[in-house]
Amino acid sequence: MPEIPQKKVGIIACSGEEIAEGTVTRLAALKVLHEMRRGDTVTLCLPLFLAGGEGERTFARFYPTITVDGCRLRCAARATERYSAQPAESIVITEVAAELGIEGIANRRNLNESGRRAVDATAEIIAGFVDRLLEKKDLDQERDGESAQVGAQTTPGTCSCGSGIQVSNLEIDGKLTKVIALPILMEQFNMEGRPADQAVAIDLLAQARVYNKVPLESEPGWLAAIQQEYASYCCAKRGKS
Ligand code: SF4
Repeated sequence: MPEIPQKKVGIIACSGEEIAEGTVTRLAALKVLHEMRRGDTVTLCLPLFLAGGEGERTFARFYPTITVDGCRLRCAARATERYSAQPAESIVITEVAAELGIEGIANRRNLNESGRRAVDATAEIIAGFVDRLLEKKDLDQERDGESAQVGAQTTPGTCSCGSGIQVSNLEIDGKLTKVIALPILMEQFNMEGRPADQAVAIDLLAQARVYNKVPLESEPGWLAAIQQEYASYCCAKRGKS
Protein backbone atom coordinates (compact mmCIF):
# COMPACT_ATOMS: atom_id res chain seq x y z
CA MET A 1 0.00 0.00 0.00
CA PRO A 2 1.49 3.36 -0.93
CA GLU A 3 2.23 5.59 1.98
CA ILE A 4 -0.10 8.58 2.17
CA PRO A 5 1.64 11.57 3.75
CA GLN A 6 0.51 12.05 7.30
CA LYS A 7 0.15 15.72 7.96
CA LYS A 8 -2.35 16.38 10.66
CA VAL A 9 -4.49 14.73 13.26
CA GLY A 10 -8.26 15.17 13.13
CA ILE A 11 -10.14 15.81 16.35
CA ILE A 12 -13.80 14.89 16.38
CA ALA A 13 -15.64 16.16 19.44
CA CYS A 14 -19.20 15.04 20.10
CA SER A 15 -20.08 18.55 21.36
CA GLY A 16 -23.13 17.03 23.06
CA GLU A 17 -25.70 19.69 23.87
CA GLU A 18 -27.48 17.97 26.70
CA ILE A 19 -24.79 17.56 29.31
CA ALA A 20 -21.86 19.69 30.48
CA GLU A 21 -19.40 16.97 29.48
CA GLY A 22 -20.37 17.67 25.86
CA THR A 23 -19.23 21.25 26.34
CA VAL A 24 -15.96 19.93 27.75
CA THR A 25 -15.32 17.95 24.56
CA ARG A 26 -15.74 21.02 22.36
CA LEU A 27 -13.64 23.35 24.51
CA ALA A 28 -10.85 20.80 24.93
CA ALA A 29 -10.72 20.19 21.16
CA LEU A 30 -10.58 23.94 20.50
CA LYS A 31 -7.85 24.44 23.07
CA VAL A 32 -5.67 21.85 21.33
CA LEU A 33 -6.54 23.20 17.89
CA HIS A 34 -5.88 26.87 18.61
CA GLU A 35 -3.34 26.84 21.41
CA MET A 36 -1.57 23.60 22.16
CA ARG A 37 -1.07 21.87 18.81
CA ARG A 38 -1.86 24.60 16.37
CA GLY A 39 -0.94 23.56 12.84
CA ASP A 40 -0.85 19.86 13.70
CA THR A 41 -4.57 19.41 14.13
CA VAL A 42 -7.88 20.06 12.44
CA THR A 43 -11.34 19.65 13.85
CA LEU A 44 -13.86 17.60 12.00
CA CYS A 45 -17.47 18.59 12.36
CA LEU A 46 -19.54 15.70 13.71
CA PRO A 47 -22.90 16.90 12.33
CA LEU A 48 -21.33 17.30 8.90
CA PHE A 49 -19.70 13.92 9.28
CA LEU A 50 -23.10 12.40 10.01
CA ALA A 51 -24.71 14.28 7.16
CA GLY A 52 -22.24 12.72 4.77
CA GLY A 53 -19.61 15.46 4.44
CA GLU A 54 -17.17 13.79 2.05
CA GLY A 55 -14.29 16.05 3.09
CA GLU A 56 -14.63 15.05 6.74
CA ARG A 57 -15.02 11.37 5.98
CA THR A 58 -12.15 11.36 3.53
CA PHE A 59 -9.89 13.04 6.04
CA ALA A 60 -10.73 10.43 8.65
CA ARG A 61 -10.04 7.67 6.15
CA PHE A 62 -6.54 8.93 5.45
CA TYR A 63 -5.38 10.51 8.65
CA PRO A 64 -5.44 9.53 12.29
CA THR A 65 -8.35 10.84 14.29
CA ILE A 66 -8.98 11.34 17.97
CA THR A 67 -12.58 11.22 19.05
CA VAL A 68 -13.66 13.05 22.18
CA ASP A 69 -17.00 12.04 23.64
CA GLY A 70 -18.91 13.39 26.58
CA CYS A 71 -20.30 10.10 27.80
CA ARG A 72 -20.18 6.39 27.30
CA LEU A 73 -22.61 6.54 24.38
CA ARG A 74 -19.55 7.55 22.36
CA CYS A 75 -21.43 9.24 19.52
CA ALA A 76 -18.31 10.64 17.84
CA ALA A 77 -16.32 7.40 18.07
CA ARG A 78 -19.18 5.30 16.79
CA ALA A 79 -19.90 7.63 13.87
CA THR A 80 -16.24 7.69 12.90
CA GLU A 81 -15.96 3.91 13.05
CA ARG A 82 -19.13 3.48 11.08
CA TYR A 83 -18.64 6.02 8.33
CA SER A 84 -14.93 6.27 7.93
CA ALA A 85 -12.31 4.41 9.89
CA GLN A 86 -11.40 3.31 13.37
CA PRO A 87 -10.28 6.35 15.41
CA ALA A 88 -6.64 6.17 16.44
CA GLU A 89 -7.61 7.24 19.96
CA SER A 90 -10.88 7.71 21.79
CA ILE A 91 -11.48 9.76 24.92
CA VAL A 92 -14.61 9.79 27.04
CA ILE A 93 -14.93 12.75 29.42
CA THR A 94 -16.86 10.91 32.12
CA GLU A 95 -14.05 8.33 32.23
CA VAL A 96 -11.33 10.98 32.32
CA ALA A 97 -13.14 12.76 35.14
CA ALA A 98 -13.58 9.53 37.09
CA GLU A 99 -9.91 8.61 36.69
CA LEU A 100 -8.73 12.03 37.78
CA GLY A 101 -11.26 12.40 40.57
CA ILE A 102 -12.94 15.41 38.99
CA GLU A 103 -16.46 15.57 40.34
CA GLY A 104 -19.49 17.70 39.67
CA ILE A 105 -18.89 18.95 36.13
CA ALA A 106 -21.81 21.28 35.50
CA ASN A 107 -23.18 24.31 33.64
CA ARG A 108 -23.26 23.61 29.93
CA ARG A 109 -23.04 27.25 28.91
CA ASN A 110 -20.57 28.43 31.48
CA LEU A 111 -18.59 25.53 32.88
CA ASN A 112 -17.89 25.44 36.59
CA GLU A 113 -14.44 24.93 38.07
CA SER A 114 -14.66 21.13 37.69
CA GLY A 115 -15.63 21.54 34.06
CA ARG A 116 -12.67 23.82 33.41
CA ARG A 117 -10.32 21.33 35.06
CA ALA A 118 -11.74 18.62 32.85
CA VAL A 119 -11.15 20.79 29.78
CA ASP A 120 -7.49 21.31 30.72
CA ALA A 121 -6.92 17.65 31.56
CA THR A 122 -8.61 16.45 28.38
CA ALA A 123 -6.67 18.90 26.25
CA GLU A 124 -3.42 17.59 27.75
CA ILE A 125 -4.42 14.04 26.92
CA ILE A 126 -5.37 14.96 23.36
CA ALA A 127 -2.11 16.86 22.86
CA GLY A 128 -0.14 13.84 24.06
CA PHE A 129 -1.97 11.64 21.59
CA VAL A 130 -1.31 14.13 18.78
CA ASP A 131 2.41 14.06 19.52
CA ARG A 132 2.48 10.33 19.56
CA LEU A 133 0.52 10.02 16.34
CA LEU A 134 2.74 12.53 14.58
CA GLU A 135 5.80 11.09 16.28
CA LYS A 136 6.72 14.46 17.70
CA LYS A 137 8.14 14.00 21.11
CA ASP A 138 10.66 16.72 21.64
CA LEU A 139 8.90 19.80 20.46
CA ASP A 140 7.51 21.13 23.70
CA GLN A 141 10.16 23.80 24.04
CA GLU A 142 9.72 24.92 20.48
CA ARG A 143 5.98 25.09 21.01
CA ASP A 144 6.32 27.11 24.18
CA GLY A 145 8.01 29.75 22.07
CA GLU A 146 5.32 29.57 19.43
CA SER A 147 2.41 29.72 21.81
CA ALA A 148 3.49 33.16 22.97
CA GLN A 149 2.67 34.41 19.48
CA VAL A 150 -0.57 32.56 19.01
CA GLY A 151 -2.83 35.23 20.49
CA ALA A 152 -1.51 37.78 18.04
CA GLN A 153 -2.17 35.69 14.97
CA THR A 154 -5.32 35.10 13.03
CA THR A 155 -6.83 31.76 13.89
CA PRO A 156 -7.17 29.53 10.85
CA GLY A 157 -10.59 28.31 9.77
CA THR A 158 -11.83 25.11 11.33
CA CYS A 159 -14.40 22.54 10.47
CA SER A 160 -12.82 21.76 7.17
CA CYS A 161 -10.77 18.72 6.42
CA GLY A 162 -7.89 20.66 4.84
CA SER A 163 -6.19 17.37 4.26
CA GLY A 164 -4.37 18.35 1.10
CA ILE A 165 -5.03 14.94 -0.40
CA GLN A 166 -4.65 15.16 -4.16
CA VAL A 167 -7.37 14.08 -6.51
CA SER A 168 -7.46 13.42 -10.24
CA ASN A 169 -10.40 14.61 -12.28
CA LEU A 170 -11.16 11.86 -14.77
CA GLU A 171 -13.86 11.53 -17.34
CA ILE A 172 -15.52 8.24 -16.50
CA ASP A 173 -18.45 7.09 -18.60
CA GLY A 174 -18.89 10.63 -19.83
CA LYS A 175 -18.95 12.15 -16.35
CA LEU A 176 -16.22 14.21 -14.71
CA THR A 177 -15.29 12.24 -11.60
CA LYS A 178 -12.93 13.05 -8.75
CA VAL A 179 -10.66 10.13 -7.99
CA ILE A 180 -9.26 10.62 -4.52
CA ALA A 181 -5.57 9.80 -3.99
CA LEU A 182 -4.93 8.70 -7.57
CA PRO A 183 -1.97 11.10 -8.04
CA ILE A 184 -0.07 9.66 -5.09
CA LEU A 185 -0.92 6.11 -6.12
CA MET A 186 0.37 6.76 -9.65
CA GLU A 187 3.51 8.32 -8.26
CA GLN A 188 4.15 5.27 -6.14
CA PHE A 189 3.51 2.85 -9.00
CA ASN A 190 5.71 4.86 -11.33
CA MET A 191 8.53 4.91 -8.80
CA GLU A 192 8.28 1.14 -8.66
CA GLY A 193 8.77 1.07 -12.44
CA ARG A 194 5.38 -0.43 -13.16
CA PRO A 195 4.27 -0.16 -16.80
CA ALA A 196 1.00 1.40 -17.93
CA ASP A 197 -0.67 -1.87 -18.89
CA GLN A 198 -4.02 -3.29 -17.97
CA ALA A 199 -2.72 -5.52 -15.18
CA VAL A 200 -1.24 -2.49 -13.44
CA ALA A 201 -4.42 -0.50 -14.04
CA ILE A 202 -6.32 -3.29 -12.26
CA ASP A 203 -3.97 -2.95 -9.28
CA LEU A 204 -4.34 0.82 -9.35
CA LEU A 205 -8.10 0.48 -9.37
CA ALA A 206 -7.93 -1.90 -6.42
CA GLN A 207 -5.91 0.67 -4.46
CA ALA A 208 -8.14 3.54 -5.55
CA ARG A 209 -11.14 1.60 -4.30
CA VAL A 210 -9.88 2.00 -0.75
CA TYR A 211 -10.50 5.73 -1.00
CA ASN A 212 -13.29 5.93 -3.57
CA LYS A 213 -16.68 4.38 -4.07
CA VAL A 214 -16.55 2.46 -7.33
CA PRO A 215 -19.96 1.10 -8.32
CA LEU A 216 -19.70 -2.38 -9.77
CA GLU A 217 -21.37 -1.41 -13.01
CA SER A 218 -18.89 1.46 -13.52
CA GLU A 219 -15.79 -0.68 -13.07
CA PRO A 220 -14.93 -0.97 -16.79
CA GLY A 221 -15.19 2.81 -17.17
CA TRP A 222 -13.01 3.40 -14.09
CA LEU A 223 -10.45 0.88 -15.29
CA ALA A 224 -10.19 2.44 -18.76
CA ALA A 225 -9.94 5.97 -17.35
CA ILE A 226 -7.31 5.03 -14.77
CA GLN A 227 -5.23 3.15 -17.34
CA GLN A 228 -5.31 6.13 -19.67
CA GLU A 229 -4.47 8.57 -16.87
CA TYR A 230 -1.57 6.43 -15.71
CA ALA A 231 -0.26 6.10 -19.28
CA SER A 232 -0.30 9.90 -19.61
CA TYR A 233 1.37 10.25 -16.22
CA CYS A 234 4.17 7.83 -17.14
CA CYS A 235 4.61 9.54 -20.50
CA ALA A 236 4.90 12.96 -18.87
CA LYS A 237 7.39 11.58 -16.34
CA ARG A 238 9.53 10.10 -19.13
CA GLY A 239 9.44 13.44 -20.95
CA LYS A 240 10.79 15.19 -17.87
CA SER A 241 13.60 12.72 -17.21
S1 SF4 B 1 -21.38 11.08 23.51
FE1 SF4 B 1 -22.83 11.57 25.15
S2 SF4 B 1 -22.54 13.78 25.45
FE2 SF4 B 1 -21.68 13.30 23.46
S3 SF4 B 1 -23.35 13.66 21.99
FE3 SF4 B 1 -23.37 11.48 22.54
S4 SF4 B 1 -24.87 11.37 24.20
FE4 SF4 B 1 -24.26 13.53 24.03
